[in-house]
Formats: sequence, structure tokens, C-alpha cells
Amino acid sequence: MSNVTEYKNFINGQWVASKSGQTYENRNPANTDQIIGLFQQSVAADATAAIEAASAAFKKWRLVPAPKRGEILYNVAKRLFDNKEELSSDMTREMGKVIKETRGDVQEAIDMTFYMAGEGRRLFGITTPSELANKFNMTIRQPLGVCSFIAPWNFPMAIPAWKMMPALICGNTIVIKPSEHTPLSVVNLMKACHEEGVPPGVINMVTGDGPVLGPALITDPRVKIVSFTGSTRTGRIVSEACAKNFKHACLEMGGKNVEIVMDDANLELAVDGALWGAFGTTGQRCTATSRLVCHKDVIEKFTSMIVERAKKLQVGNGLDEATDMGPIINQKQLDNVMKYIEIGKSEGARLQTGGERLTGGEYDKGYFVQPTVFTDVTADMRIWKEEIFGPVLSIVSCSSLDEAINLANDTVYGLSASIYTQDVNSAYTAMRDINTGIFYVNAPTIGAETHLPFGGTKETGNGHREAGTAALDVFSEWKSIYVDFSGKLQRAQIDTE
Ligand code: NAD
Repeated sequence: MSNVTEYKNFINGQWVASKSGQTYENRNPANTDQIIGLFQQSVAADATAAIEAASAAFKKWRLVPAPKRGEILYNVAKRLFDNKEELSSDMTREMGKVIKETRGDVQEAIDMTFYMAGEGRRLFGITTPSELANKFNMTIRQPLGVCSFIAPWNFPMAIPAWKMMPALICGNTIVIKPSEHTPLSVVNLMKACHEEGVPPGVINMVTGDGPVLGPALITDPRVKIVSFTGSTRTGRIVSEACAKNFKHACLEMGGKNVEIVMDDANLELAVDGALWGAFGTTGQRCTATSRLVCHKDVIEKFTSMIVERAKKLQVGNGLDEATDMGPIINQKQLDNVMKYIEIGKSEGARLQTGGERLTGGEYDKGYFVQPTVFTDVTADMRIWKEEIFGPVLSIVSCSSLDEAINLANDTVYGLSASIYTQDVNSAYTAMRDINTGIFYVNAPTIGAETHLPFGGTKETGNGHREAGTAALDVFSEWKSIYVDFSGKLQRAQIDTE
């Protein structure tokens, strides 16, 4: 235990211990013998101290010219880029996903940071004519103040960066609570920001449990907006707490994403997409493909192709370049996945491959499960309706595009969907009629890019979007400014002559 690193909270530019005096261990989900580090088991008073620092820092940060804020972010992005390999391997050790994917996660943080650095020289408002003579109208974006961020574990650096960088470029200050399962990547992000010149108090981090820290992060009157990514269940708690105090709430929540494979699809491509969508990140992406609607004329062929490929996927430690799929994040999530596999079997779905926890040798030290494919699934089954968040794909048959679209829309979630077809009419009809925030044609349900809006409809979100310029709308408020240089009282709507 003596050589295990203890990581502190980051408040007002300092690394500080929690007022609780307690830490917790975080272990590698691929090998639970390995302790990633000791992290602060923070209490509400730590969150309050972080908010205090963020509130004080806001007074100056909001007045730093946005292009100057952008220069700092540019240097942060360069730092992340220079350290990409080390940051990725830290992330694979704490989260489990394979190293190729953690490099992608860090790259997403780099992309977002460069992108928002550039926004420092845009943050465009509009100028528009006035209805009155000798009057000038314009709009500017203003920061909100202190932002509280609550993050999940599946994108340990990308999601925090998606929240932080647009907020910072707009002139806000922040307090972030990483997921208790992946705090190291946010520690690394804080270090990069601090060492590249983000001033003390502008960014703050407290680690620990959501139910303990959540109320302080949400209800403090100095906090103006809460940006949350996680399950719909927790999002509802956050949303209700925000509503009481009219706080802005930006919620990114669960998904039950669908890939449609039509009878004219390029099946090789559709299988590639389904494998990557269903088993990439061990199925633990909010945009993961967990439902597949396949045309009845090709379902047999498609099923045999995907089952053959799923059986060949190498499951193991994500640091090994040859591994295709890493472990599940923790015991609780593994139990949840195994529970749904049992539910699928008991509901009468046919298990085509997988379905077992992997054991023996190194597997015994981690949370490994086989890539799993069910067929003969019907739309009333729980494995079809509920978010599993693991490597479990359920395949349903359809006989027309209309039926496929109805099946796709038959869910409380609305994050991502895709269609594989060679028919442009089918592609455009599905694009228009499927109710999701993200849609792909001849590509998997995963693969968002940072400069497009990201988020979902229905119980996936509450109308906001992350990423793209949509993120600027979340982290700024419009101010409309009227400058009258006529030297007399001019009354809008009244002095019409
Ligand atoms: P989670 O809801 O369990 O936890 C998310 C965060 O909320 C964690 O930091 C947790 O500590 C905190 N939390 C827990 N209870 C809280 C409370 N009472 N008050 C305040 N905060 C609390 O989710 P998770 O297991 O970390 O992540 C998986 C979920 O996230 C899945 O449902 C997935 O679909 C969703 N997700 C959505 C998106 C998206 O953009 N739509 C992206 C990634 C993950």
C-alpha cells in the first residue's frame, strides 16, 4: 500500500485533502489486484469550498478577453497532445477500455480544447437593424458564473472536456465531480489546465460519491448551471433539484440505440458497424448499438455473419494492443449485465453466442464477459426496452422500412440511430422519421465528432446539446443591447411614423 499514490482534490489552484480525512481506493477493472490510486472521499464542505473558489475567480476570469482565454486553452490542448500516450494508458488502467479507444477519448478532449480555443476569436453575436432611426442593435454572449459538472465513467476525459472547454471559453468558472470510478483522468486534465496557465479557482475538482456531493453541487446559490451526464435515473434527481432553484440544467442521459439493416444493405459493412457499435467500449457507450432491426430476407445471413465475428473478438486487458474488448467497469455493472442476459433467456430470446462471464487465469482478476448476441427478440422484451450498458446485442426481424422505423422509435430514449441501405429514399425517410438527436447512414451508432451538436431526444436529454456551437448556448446567456444615438426619446412599437 505504501507505494500507492494518493490524489487530492483541486481547489483554488491547490491540491488539497478532503475535510473528511478519508480516501477511497480505485482499482483496475481488468485486474483488481492493481490499485490505480487513493482518491479523496469528499464531503459537502469540500464541494462548498470549491464553489467558493470558483465564485471568487469568476469576478476576474469573466473579464479576461476571450481570445486570451483561447490562448490558454490552445496550450492545454498542446499539452494533452504531447502526453496523449501516457494519458491514454492511465485511462485504460482505470476504466478498462482498450488502448486504441482511450487514445480516441483523449483525442476527443484534444479536439474539443483546440476547437473551443478557436471559439475565443468567434463567440459571434449578431448585429441587426433597429426599427427606429439612429439606433443600433446587437447581441453579446455573457457567461453564467459557476458551473457544476457531474460526469460518468465511460468517457473519463472526453466528457469532462466537452463540459469544461466551452464553459471556460465563455468565461465561466467550474467545479467538476468526476465519476468515482474514473477520477484519474480528470486529475490529469486538471494538471494540464493548471500547468498551462488556467488561473487558480477557475477550475476545481472534488472526487467522491454522487449522492454525497450532488446536493451541495446543485443547490448552492452561487451555482448557476449544472451539467450532468449519466443515467436517466440520476438525471431525474439532478433535474428535480435544479428546478426548485430555477438553475439551468443540461442533462445527457441514457440510450437504447438502434441499427437498422435493410435487405439491400452491404452486409459486410453492416456487420462491421454492428460489431463496433455493440462491442466497442464493451457496450458501455451511451450511443452503443444495443438493438438491431434486420430485414427478414437477410436476417439469417446477417446473424450468422455477426455471430461468427463476435466469437472471434479477443476479450482481455485493454493495454494489450491485440485486445478487441476490455472488461466491464465494476462488479455492480457486471452483475447488471449478467442479470439482463438471464432476463433475455427467461423471456424466450435465443442466445446465439456469448452470455457467460469469462473466468480462469487472468480473467478471474477482472470483470470480463463474452460478447453476446440474442435473436428471436420481440419488442415487448426487457432486453429490447431497457438500457443494459454492456456487450449485449438484441436482434429483431422486420419486413418493411415502416416497421423498422416504428421499432426504432419504440423506446423512451432518443440518442442515436443508424441505417444500412443502398436506397437513398430509405435513408432519407429514416433520417427524417427516427426520433433521435444523432443519426447515421451506413455507419454505426457511435462515432460523434466534437464540432457537431451531441445529445438526445425524449428521456435521453432535456433539449440541450453538448459539443458544436450548441455548447456555447448552454454556457452563455444572450444579452440584447440597444444603443440610441438619436438624442431623443424613441418609443419602440409606438413611434411608428
Ligand atoms: P450514473 O448516473 O450512475 O452516475 C453519473 C454521475 O452522477 C456520477 O458522477 C455519479 O457519482 C453521480 N451521481 C450519482 N448519484 C447522484 C446523485 N444522487 N446526485 C448527483 N450526482 C449523482 O451513471 P454512470 O453509471 O456513471 O454512467 C452510465 C450512464 O451514463 C448510462 O446510462 C449512459 O447512457 C449515460 N451516459 C450518457 C451520455 C450522453 O451523452 N447521453 C454519455 C455517457 C454516459
